[in-house]
Amino acid sequence: MSKKFYSEGLPFECTRCGHCCRHEPGFVFLSEKDLESLLKYFSISQDEFIEKYCRIVDVGFFKRISLIEKPNNDCIFWQNGMGCSVYSARPLQCRSYPFWHAVMDSEESWNEEAESCPGMNHGKIHSEQEIEEWLKKREENPPLDIDS
Ligand code: SF4
Ligand code: SF4
Repeated sequence: MSKKFYSEGLPFECTRCGHCCRHEPGFVFLSEKDLESLLKYFSISQDEFIEKYCRIVDVGFFKRISLIEKPNNDCIFWQNGMGCSVYSARPLQCRSYPFWHAVMDSEESWNEEAESCPGMNHGKIHSEQEIEEWLKKREENPPLDIDS
């Protein structure tokens, strides 16, 4: 098996700059477990949570649930001065960043992503095993596909 570009681990330490949570529209897709955790966190019903904080995104064959943004394109859960207001229940997509399949695909994609994340290529080294565990977690907890 060929050696991965991250076989010696990779440095990453979040500076909490908030860049990945703010300013630009994007999708934060929820897995079944993410939804469960957030419902528990807010103690509200699924319908109420989706109505208040989510949008349904048609991705072709499936529809998925994504968090919405505020009018200024910050994530609905971003709070100035506090950061992520649901930090302990934040979705796996957020927790596993930047160790996403699309980013870990090649050294080139890693370095390209690092241009917009000041935490990448700095700080604590994350081992190959740790990175693979994040990738596996994403595979085991895919975005929830819904019918309507
Ligand atoms: S862009 Fe990178 S450093 Fe900034 S909050 Fe996101 S993960 Fe952390
Ligand atoms: S849920 Fe939290 S960590 Fe995820 S994008 Fe929103 S503010 Fe950022």
